[in-house]
Amino acid sequence: MEKSGSENSSSQIFRDLLAGSSRAVVFTGAGVSTESGIPDFRSPGGIWSRMAPIDYQDFVRSAEVRREAWQRKFEMDDTMRGAQPNIGHAAIASMVERDVVRAVITQNIDGLHQASGVPADKVIELHGNTTYATCLECAERYELDDIKREFEVSRRLPVCDVCGGIVKTATISFGQSMPLGPMERAEEETLECDLFIAIGSSLVVYPAASFPLLAKRNGARLVILNREETPLDDAADLVVHDEIGPALARVVPLN
Ligand code: NAD
Repeated sequence: MEKSGSENSSSQIFRDLLAGSSRAVVFTGAGVSTESGIPDFRSPGGIWSRMAPIDYQDFVRSAEVRREAWQRKFEMDDTMRGAQPNIGHAAIASMVERDVVRAVITQNIDGLHQASGVPADKVIELHGNTTYATCLECAERYELDDIKREFEVSRRLPVCDVCGGIVKTATISFGQSMPLGPMERAEEETLECDLFIAIGSSLVVYPAASFPLLAKRNGARLVILNREETPLDDAADLVVHDEIGPALARVVPLN
């Protein structure tokens, strides 16, 4: 494993790995969006240092918990909605546009890869998307503005007009099953890639964090870019402990 020595040497190794790849995959976590002002979960000051996550079963079981979940959602929504893609997102979009990267597998729920220009069909969202809501029974889509208006006036919880089911942000919560389609596509892309680049993930959230090891065991090279250590650093061909935007800007030509 090559640990990031000098900035120059790790950037050169990263560029060489990209140049030698014919099919790379990028895998992102919350760290790629902190430079857009969206806090991650585990860093100091991150969301979990302020509140514990809400479990899916509790959400389904209790109207009070659902009220708490929507209250939190709307409190955080201004930050989420005001966020713009940053240099890290732009560098990833540039790699996709150049066909260096075939797919972006993301744990993020903020939609910023799509906003940075990655075609939606190349973004595989493992944990869903928090910019809209769906019915848990029939998957009917609902927009947040409509739900927020009602909630702020009467604290009314959203219920599906079609089937009466519970409406929830289109994210995957703790305790909720992973989405089958995205998991299958992510596995396919992981098994077909020759270079797997994990960016801004603590690599502790499973099953998402199993993809880097799957790629490595299948013969792909593995790059990990994260400001702090991850449990998979020892398995990587290159580990870069740095800030994402500046590190990628040294490696990828921006459009
Ligand atoms: P995480 O919070 O567990 O880890 C983020 C990692 O990124 C940390 O190791 C941190 O040190 C690193 N990091 C943060 N900013 C960085 C920067 N600028 N440069 C380099 N490294 C940086 O995130 P995770 O592993 O993605 O898992 C947490 C879960 O939280 C995910 O499942 C995701 O669904 C959800 N989440 C998403 C968002 C979002 O969509 N933006 C935000 C918070 C949480």
